[in-house]
Amino acid sequence: MPDFALLLLIIIALGIGYLSGRRDKRRRRIAESTDTLSSEYFVGLNYLLNEQTDEAIESFIRALEVNGDTVETFVVLGRLFRQRGELDKAIQAHQDLLARPSLTREQMLDVQLELAKDYMMAGLFDRAEALLKDIVRQSWRGWRESFNTLLSIYEKEKEWKRAIELVGQLRGQVADSYALRLSHYYCERAEMAMGQSDVLVARKYLRQASSCYRSNARVSLLSGRLEMAAGNYRDAVRAFEKIAEQDKNYISESIPLLEEAYSHLRSLRGLSAYLGRCLKEMPSSAVVMASARMVAMQQGDKEAGRFVAEQIVRRPSLKGLNALIDLHLQMSEGRAKQNLSMLRGLTGRLERSKPVYRCGQCGFEGKELHWSCPKCHEWSTIKPIMGLEGE
Ligand SMILES: [Zn+2]
Repeated sequence: MPDFALLLLIIIALGIGYLSGRRDKRRRRIAESTDTLSSEYFVGLNYLLNEQTDEAIESFIRALEVNGDTVETFVVLGRLFRQRGELDKAIQAHQDLLARPSLTREQMLDVQLELAKDYMMAGLFDRAEALLKDIVRQSWRGWRESFNTLLSIYEKEKEWKRAIELVGQLRGQVADSYALRLSHYYCERAEMAMGQSDVLVARKYLRQASSCYRSNARVSLLSGRLEMAAGNYRDAVRAFEKIAEQDKNYISESIPLLEEAYSHLRSLRGLSAYLGRCLKEMPSSAVVMASARMVAMQQGDKEAGRFVAEQIVRRPSLKGLNALIDLHLQMSEGRAKQNLSMLRGLTGRLERSKPVYRCGQCGFEGKELHWSCPKCHEWSTIKPIMGLEGE
Protein backbone atom coordinates (compact mmCIF):
# COMPACT_ATOMS: atom_id res chain seq x y z
CA MET A 1 0.00 0.00 0.00
CA PRO A 2 1.63 3.26 -1.05
CA ASP A 3 2.05 5.91 1.60
CA PHE A 4 0.02 8.27 -0.54
CA ALA A 5 -3.13 6.13 -0.14
CA LEU A 6 -2.65 5.99 3.61
CA LEU A 7 -2.19 9.73 3.84
CA LEU A 8 -5.21 10.37 1.68
CA LEU A 9 -7.31 8.18 3.97
CA ILE A 10 -6.10 10.00 7.05
CA ILE A 11 -6.76 13.41 5.50
CA ILE A 12 -10.31 12.32 4.60
CA ALA A 13 -10.76 10.96 8.11
CA LEU A 14 -9.56 14.26 9.51
CA GLY A 15 -12.15 16.04 7.41
CA ILE A 16 -14.91 13.77 8.76
CA GLY A 17 -13.67 14.21 12.30
CA TYR A 18 -13.51 17.94 11.88
CA LEU A 19 -17.03 18.20 10.45
CA SER A 20 -18.49 15.93 13.11
CA GLY A 21 -16.69 18.04 15.71
CA ARG A 22 -18.39 21.11 14.32
CA ARG A 23 -21.78 19.52 14.77
CA ASP A 24 -21.08 19.03 18.45
CA LYS A 25 -23.18 21.37 20.53
CA ARG A 26 -20.72 21.60 23.38
CA ARG A 27 -18.87 24.69 22.34
CA ARG A 28 -15.98 24.27 24.70
CA ARG A 29 -15.16 20.80 23.34
CA ILE A 30 -15.42 22.07 19.78
CA ALA A 31 -12.93 24.78 20.49
CA GLU A 32 -10.49 22.32 22.10
CA SER A 33 -10.71 19.66 19.39
CA THR A 34 -10.52 22.22 16.61
CA ASP A 35 -7.43 23.72 18.15
CA THR A 36 -5.79 20.30 18.50
CA LEU A 37 -6.90 19.36 15.01
CA SER A 38 -5.52 22.56 13.53
CA SER A 39 -2.12 22.39 15.18
CA GLU A 40 -1.52 18.67 14.57
CA TYR A 41 -2.95 19.01 11.08
CA PHE A 42 -0.51 21.74 10.14
CA VAL A 43 2.40 19.93 11.77
CA GLY A 44 1.42 16.91 9.69
CA LEU A 45 1.18 18.96 6.52
CA ASN A 46 4.59 20.42 7.25
CA TYR A 47 6.08 16.92 7.57
CA LEU A 48 4.33 15.94 4.39
CA LEU A 49 5.79 18.86 2.49
CA ASN A 50 9.23 17.86 3.75
CA GLU A 51 8.54 14.28 2.51
CA GLN A 52 8.73 12.91 6.07
CA THR A 53 5.87 10.49 5.48
CA ASP A 54 6.05 8.50 8.73
CA GLU A 55 6.08 11.63 10.89
CA ALA A 56 3.23 13.06 8.81
CA ILE A 57 1.14 9.94 9.38
CA GLU A 58 1.74 10.04 13.12
CA SER A 59 0.75 13.69 13.31
CA PHE A 60 -2.41 13.11 11.37
CA ILE A 61 -3.30 10.16 13.60
CA ARG A 62 -2.97 12.33 16.69
CA ALA A 63 -5.29 14.81 15.03
CA LEU A 64 -7.92 12.16 14.39
CA GLU A 65 -10.79 12.59 16.74
CA VAL A 66 -12.10 9.13 17.61
CA ASN A 67 -15.84 9.24 17.86
CA GLY A 68 -18.72 7.20 16.44
CA ASP A 69 -18.13 8.59 12.94
CA THR A 70 -14.42 7.80 12.73
CA VAL A 71 -14.20 4.35 14.35
CA GLU A 72 -14.42 2.63 10.96
CA THR A 73 -11.71 4.93 9.61
CA PHE A 74 -9.47 4.00 12.50
CA VAL A 75 -10.16 0.30 11.92
CA VAL A 76 -9.16 0.72 8.27
CA LEU A 77 -6.11 2.72 9.30
CA GLY A 78 -4.95 -0.12 11.57
CA ARG A 79 -5.58 -2.56 8.75
CA LEU A 80 -3.41 -0.47 6.42
CA PHE A 81 -0.61 -0.49 8.98
CA ARG A 82 -0.92 -4.28 9.14
CA GLN A 83 -0.77 -4.57 5.36
CA ARG A 84 2.38 -2.43 5.37
CA GLY A 85 3.89 -4.79 7.94
CA GLU A 86 3.89 -2.09 10.64
CA LEU A 87 2.40 -4.40 13.21
CA ASP A 88 3.28 -2.33 16.30
CA LYS A 89 1.32 0.59 14.89
CA ALA A 90 -1.58 -1.64 13.83
CA ILE A 91 -1.81 -3.21 17.29
CA GLN A 92 -1.55 0.21 18.95
CA ALA A 93 -4.30 1.69 16.76
CA HIS A 94 -6.66 -1.22 17.45
CA GLN A 95 -5.87 -1.39 21.17
CA ASP A 96 -6.50 2.36 21.51
CA LEU A 97 -9.87 1.87 19.87
CA LEU A 98 -10.83 -0.97 22.21
CA ALA A 99 -10.21 1.30 25.18
CA ARG A 100 -12.90 3.75 24.00
CA PRO A 101 -16.13 3.37 25.97
CA SER A 102 -18.21 4.86 23.13
CA LEU A 103 -17.92 1.79 20.85
CA THR A 104 -21.07 -0.14 20.01
CA ARG A 105 -21.09 -3.94 20.51
CA GLU A 106 -20.59 -4.64 16.79
CA GLN A 107 -17.77 -2.09 16.54
CA MET A 108 -16.08 -3.65 19.57
CA LEU A 109 -16.24 -7.09 17.90
CA ASP A 110 -14.93 -5.66 14.60
CA VAL A 111 -11.93 -4.17 16.37
CA GLN A 112 -11.28 -7.40 18.31
CA LEU A 113 -11.20 -9.30 15.02
CA GLU A 114 -8.76 -6.79 13.51
CA LEU A 115 -6.56 -6.97 16.58
CA ALA A 116 -6.57 -10.77 16.41
CA LYS A 117 -5.38 -10.53 12.81
CA ASP A 118 -2.59 -8.17 13.88
CA TYR A 119 -1.51 -10.67 16.53
CA MET A 120 -1.63 -13.50 14.01
CA MET A 121 0.60 -11.65 11.59
CA ALA A 122 2.98 -10.86 14.43
CA GLY A 123 3.11 -14.60 15.22
CA LEU A 124 1.33 -14.08 18.57
CA PHE A 125 -1.06 -16.97 17.98
CA ASP A 126 -2.00 -17.46 21.65
CA ARG A 127 -3.24 -13.88 21.97
CA ALA A 128 -5.08 -14.09 18.65
CA GLU A 129 -6.69 -17.38 19.66
CA ALA A 130 -7.87 -15.99 23.02
CA LEU A 131 -9.55 -13.02 21.29
CA LEU A 132 -11.13 -15.12 18.57
CA LYS A 133 -12.45 -17.81 20.92
CA ASP A 134 -14.39 -15.07 22.65
CA ILE A 135 -15.89 -13.52 19.53
CA VAL A 136 -16.85 -16.77 17.75
CA ARG A 137 -19.19 -17.55 20.64
CA GLN A 138 -21.28 -14.51 19.74
CA SER A 139 -23.69 -13.90 16.93
CA TRP A 140 -22.59 -10.90 14.84
CA ARG A 141 -21.91 -9.77 11.27
CA GLY A 142 -18.24 -10.87 11.32
CA TRP A 143 -18.88 -14.29 12.82
CA ARG A 144 -17.94 -16.30 9.71
CA GLU A 145 -14.69 -14.38 9.21
CA SER A 146 -13.70 -14.73 12.86
CA PHE A 147 -14.54 -18.45 12.79
CA ASN A 148 -12.40 -18.96 9.67
CA THR A 149 -9.57 -16.94 11.17
CA LEU A 150 -9.57 -19.08 14.32
CA LEU A 151 -9.67 -22.22 12.19
CA SER A 152 -6.74 -20.95 10.12
CA ILE A 153 -4.69 -20.59 13.33
CA TYR A 154 -5.37 -24.23 14.21
CA GLU A 155 -4.47 -25.24 10.64
CA LYS A 156 -1.20 -23.26 10.74
CA GLU A 157 -0.31 -24.73 14.10
CA LYS A 158 -1.44 -28.23 13.02
CA GLU A 159 -3.78 -28.33 16.01
CA TRP A 160 -6.10 -30.81 14.32
CA LYS A 161 -7.85 -31.92 17.50
CA ARG A 162 -8.86 -28.34 18.31
CA ALA A 163 -9.90 -27.71 14.70
CA ILE A 164 -12.14 -30.80 14.83
CA GLU A 165 -13.68 -29.68 18.13
CA LEU A 166 -14.35 -26.20 16.76
CA VAL A 167 -16.05 -27.42 13.58
CA GLY A 168 -17.86 -30.04 15.68
CA GLN A 169 -19.76 -27.23 17.40
CA LEU A 170 -21.47 -26.26 14.14
CA ARG A 171 -24.90 -27.49 13.15
CA GLY A 172 -27.06 -27.68 10.02
CA GLN A 173 -26.09 -26.07 6.71
CA VAL A 174 -23.16 -24.19 8.22
CA ALA A 175 -21.71 -27.50 9.46
CA ASP A 176 -22.20 -28.99 5.97
CA SER A 177 -20.09 -26.23 4.43
CA TYR A 178 -17.15 -27.33 6.61
CA ALA A 179 -17.56 -31.09 5.98
CA LEU A 180 -14.67 -31.40 3.50
CA ARG A 181 -12.34 -29.52 5.82
CA LEU A 182 -13.38 -31.68 8.74
CA SER A 183 -12.70 -34.78 6.68
CA HIS A 184 -9.17 -33.52 5.95
CA TYR A 185 -8.57 -32.79 9.64
CA TYR A 186 -9.31 -36.45 10.38
CA CYS A 187 -6.99 -37.41 7.50
CA GLU A 188 -4.25 -35.33 9.10
CA ARG A 189 -4.74 -37.20 12.37
CA ALA A 190 -4.74 -40.50 10.48
CA GLU A 191 -1.44 -39.60 8.80
CA MET A 192 0.06 -38.81 12.20
CA ALA A 193 -1.10 -42.20 13.51
CA MET A 194 0.34 -43.86 10.38
CA GLY A 195 3.64 -42.11 11.07
CA GLN A 196 3.62 -43.84 14.46
CA SER A 197 2.59 -47.17 12.89
CA ASP A 198 -0.64 -47.11 14.87
CA VAL A 199 -2.83 -48.95 12.36
CA LEU A 200 -5.96 -49.21 14.52
CA VAL A 201 -6.04 -45.50 15.39
CA ALA A 202 -5.32 -44.54 11.77
CA ARG A 203 -8.22 -46.73 10.60
CA LYS A 204 -10.52 -45.09 13.15
CA TYR A 205 -9.68 -41.58 11.91
CA LEU A 206 -10.05 -42.63 8.29
CA ARG A 207 -13.52 -44.02 9.03
CA GLN A 208 -14.44 -40.67 10.60
CA ALA A 209 -12.91 -38.79 7.65
CA SER A 210 -15.02 -40.85 5.28
CA SER A 211 -18.23 -40.39 7.23
CA CYS A 212 -17.75 -36.58 7.15
CA TYR A 213 -17.25 -36.42 3.39
CA ARG A 214 -17.61 -39.57 1.30
CA SER A 215 -16.10 -38.08 -1.88
CA ASN A 216 -12.77 -37.19 -0.30
CA ALA A 217 -10.28 -39.11 -2.47
CA ARG A 218 -7.54 -38.51 0.09
CA VAL A 219 -9.29 -40.91 2.48
CA SER A 220 -9.08 -43.71 -0.10
CA LEU A 221 -5.46 -42.94 -0.96
CA LEU A 222 -4.51 -43.08 2.72
CA SER A 223 -6.61 -46.19 3.39
CA GLY A 224 -4.94 -47.90 0.41
CA ARG A 225 -1.48 -47.00 1.68
CA LEU A 226 -2.35 -48.09 5.20
CA GLU A 227 -3.65 -51.48 4.06
CA MET A 228 -0.69 -51.96 1.71
CA ALA A 229 1.71 -51.42 4.60
CA ALA A 230 -0.32 -53.90 6.68
CA GLY A 231 -0.15 -56.46 3.84
CA ASN A 232 -3.92 -56.35 3.21
CA TYR A 233 -3.62 -56.03 -0.55
CA ARG A 234 -7.24 -56.82 -1.34
CA ASP A 235 -8.45 -54.02 0.95
CA ALA A 236 -5.79 -51.73 -0.54
CA VAL A 237 -7.09 -52.42 -4.06
CA ARG A 238 -10.66 -51.77 -2.93
CA ALA A 239 -9.61 -48.42 -1.44
CA PHE A 240 -7.56 -47.29 -4.46
CA GLU A 241 -10.27 -48.22 -6.94
CA LYS A 242 -12.81 -46.18 -5.00
CA ILE A 243 -10.96 -43.03 -6.11
CA ALA A 244 -12.45 -43.42 -9.60
CA GLU A 245 -15.92 -42.89 -8.07
CA GLN A 246 -14.80 -40.03 -5.80
CA ASP A 247 -12.60 -37.76 -7.91
CA LYS A 248 -11.12 -39.02 -11.19
CA ASN A 249 -8.42 -36.34 -11.10
CA TYR A 250 -6.62 -38.28 -8.37
CA ILE A 251 -6.63 -41.68 -10.12
CA SER A 252 -3.06 -41.10 -11.35
CA GLU A 253 -1.88 -40.80 -7.71
CA SER A 254 -2.92 -44.36 -6.96
CA ILE A 255 -1.76 -46.16 -10.13
CA PRO A 256 1.82 -47.17 -9.10
CA LEU A 257 0.55 -48.43 -5.71
CA LEU A 258 -2.36 -50.22 -7.33
CA GLU A 259 0.02 -52.01 -9.72
CA GLU A 260 2.08 -53.08 -6.71
CA ALA A 261 -0.99 -54.33 -4.81
CA TYR A 262 -2.22 -56.31 -7.82
CA SER A 263 1.22 -57.84 -8.36
CA HIS A 264 1.14 -59.10 -4.75
CA LEU A 265 -2.29 -60.58 -5.45
CA ARG A 266 -1.01 -62.00 -8.79
CA SER A 267 -4.16 -60.74 -10.45
CA LEU A 268 -3.25 -59.11 -13.75
CA ARG A 269 -6.78 -59.59 -14.98
CA GLY A 270 -8.15 -57.40 -12.18
CA LEU A 271 -5.65 -54.64 -12.95
CA SER A 272 -6.33 -54.90 -16.67
CA ALA A 273 -10.09 -54.53 -16.12
CA TYR A 274 -9.67 -51.47 -13.89
CA LEU A 275 -7.18 -49.77 -16.25
CA GLY A 276 -9.57 -50.46 -19.13
CA ARG A 277 -12.34 -48.61 -17.31
CA CYS A 278 -10.01 -45.71 -16.46
CA LEU A 279 -8.80 -45.47 -20.07
CA LYS A 280 -12.38 -44.83 -21.15
CA GLU A 281 -13.25 -42.36 -18.40
CA MET A 282 -9.96 -40.63 -17.51
CA PRO A 283 -7.10 -41.57 -19.86
CA SER A 284 -4.32 -39.83 -17.91
CA SER A 285 -0.67 -40.51 -18.73
CA ALA A 286 -0.30 -42.67 -15.60
CA VAL A 287 -3.15 -44.90 -16.80
CA VAL A 288 -1.77 -45.05 -20.37
CA MET A 289 1.69 -45.99 -19.14
CA ALA A 290 0.41 -48.63 -16.71
CA SER A 291 -1.70 -50.07 -19.54
CA ALA A 292 1.38 -50.03 -21.82
CA ARG A 293 3.33 -51.97 -19.19
CA MET A 294 0.54 -54.57 -19.17
CA VAL A 295 0.60 -54.80 -22.99
CA ALA A 296 4.40 -55.13 -22.92
CA MET A 297 4.17 -57.98 -20.42
CA GLN A 298 1.50 -59.84 -22.34
CA GLN A 299 2.33 -59.02 -25.98
CA GLY A 300 5.84 -57.56 -26.01
CA ASP A 301 7.46 -54.12 -26.43
CA LYS A 302 6.52 -53.70 -30.08
CA GLU A 303 2.83 -54.02 -29.35
CA ALA A 304 3.20 -51.72 -26.31
CA GLY A 305 4.83 -49.10 -28.58
CA ARG A 306 1.92 -49.35 -30.99
CA PHE A 307 -0.53 -48.94 -28.10
CA VAL A 308 1.21 -45.82 -26.72
CA ALA A 309 1.46 -44.24 -30.20
CA GLU A 310 -2.26 -44.80 -30.69
CA GLN A 311 -3.02 -43.18 -27.31
CA ILE A 312 -0.78 -40.16 -28.08
CA VAL A 313 -2.65 -39.51 -31.31
CA ARG A 314 -5.93 -39.54 -29.38
CA ARG A 315 -4.63 -37.50 -26.48
CA PRO A 316 -1.21 -35.88 -26.98
CA SER A 317 0.98 -35.57 -23.89
CA LEU A 318 4.64 -35.02 -23.12
CA LYS A 319 4.68 -37.92 -20.66
CA GLY A 320 3.18 -40.23 -23.28
CA LEU A 321 5.80 -39.11 -25.81
CA ASN A 322 8.58 -39.87 -23.32
CA ALA A 323 7.13 -43.31 -22.66
CA LEU A 324 7.04 -43.94 -26.41
CA ILE A 325 10.68 -42.86 -26.84
CA ASP A 326 11.66 -45.15 -23.93
CA LEU A 327 10.01 -48.10 -25.62
CA HIS A 328 11.74 -47.37 -28.95
CA LEU A 329 15.08 -46.89 -27.18
CA GLN A 330 14.85 -50.47 -25.92
CA MET A 331 14.23 -51.73 -29.42
CA SER A 332 16.77 -49.64 -31.37
CA GLU A 333 20.53 -49.91 -31.88
CA GLY A 334 23.57 -47.90 -33.09
CA ARG A 335 23.06 -44.40 -34.47
CA ALA A 336 19.28 -44.52 -34.11
CA LYS A 337 19.61 -45.35 -30.42
CA GLN A 338 22.09 -42.48 -29.94
CA ASN A 339 19.75 -39.97 -31.56
CA LEU A 340 16.76 -41.22 -29.62
CA SER A 341 18.74 -41.02 -26.41
CA MET A 342 19.63 -37.38 -27.15
CA LEU A 343 15.98 -36.58 -27.89
CA ARG A 344 14.89 -38.33 -24.68
CA GLY A 345 17.35 -36.18 -22.71
CA LEU A 346 15.73 -33.04 -24.08
CA THR A 347 12.12 -34.12 -23.65
CA GLY A 348 12.94 -35.44 -20.17
CA ARG A 349 14.34 -32.05 -19.19
CA LEU A 350 11.26 -30.37 -20.62
CA GLU A 351 9.00 -32.66 -18.57
CA ARG A 352 10.95 -32.03 -15.36
CA SER A 353 10.72 -28.26 -15.85
CA LYS A 354 6.92 -28.38 -15.77
CA PRO A 355 4.80 -28.13 -12.61
CA VAL A 356 2.87 -31.30 -11.78
CA TYR A 357 0.00 -29.91 -9.69
CA ARG A 358 -2.16 -26.80 -9.88
CA CYS A 359 -4.71 -25.22 -7.55
CA GLY A 360 -8.07 -24.77 -9.26
CA GLN A 361 -8.88 -21.94 -6.89
CA CYS A 362 -5.85 -19.61 -7.04
CA GLY A 363 -3.60 -21.10 -9.74
CA PHE A 364 -0.74 -22.06 -7.38
CA GLU A 365 1.56 -24.56 -9.12
CA GLY A 366 4.15 -26.96 -7.79
CA LYS A 367 5.65 -30.41 -7.91
CA GLU A 368 4.14 -31.65 -4.65
CA LEU A 369 0.56 -32.59 -3.88
CA HIS A 370 -0.66 -30.39 -1.02
CA TRP A 371 -4.14 -31.18 0.26
CA SER A 372 -4.42 -27.63 1.59
CA CYS A 373 -3.20 -25.05 -0.91
CA PRO A 374 -0.17 -23.17 0.51
CA LYS A 375 -1.39 -19.99 -1.19
CA CYS A 376 -5.19 -19.82 -0.83
CA HIS A 377 -5.47 -22.43 1.98
CA GLU A 378 -8.47 -24.14 0.36
CA TRP A 379 -8.70 -27.92 0.70
CA SER A 380 -8.71 -30.45 -2.19
CA THR A 381 -8.27 -27.69 -4.78
CA ILE A 382 -4.77 -28.78 -5.84
CA LYS A 383 -4.96 -31.54 -8.45
CA PRO A 384 -2.64 -33.11 -11.02
CA ILE A 385 -2.37 -30.96 -14.16
CA MET A 386 -4.02 -32.68 -17.12
CA GLY A 387 -3.35 -32.27 -20.83
CA LEU A 388 -0.32 -31.82 -23.08
CA GLU A 389 2.22 -30.90 -20.41
CA GLY A 390 0.64 -32.80 -17.52
CA GLU A 391 -1.00 -36.12 -16.80
ZN1 LIG B 1 -4.86 -22.20 -4.03
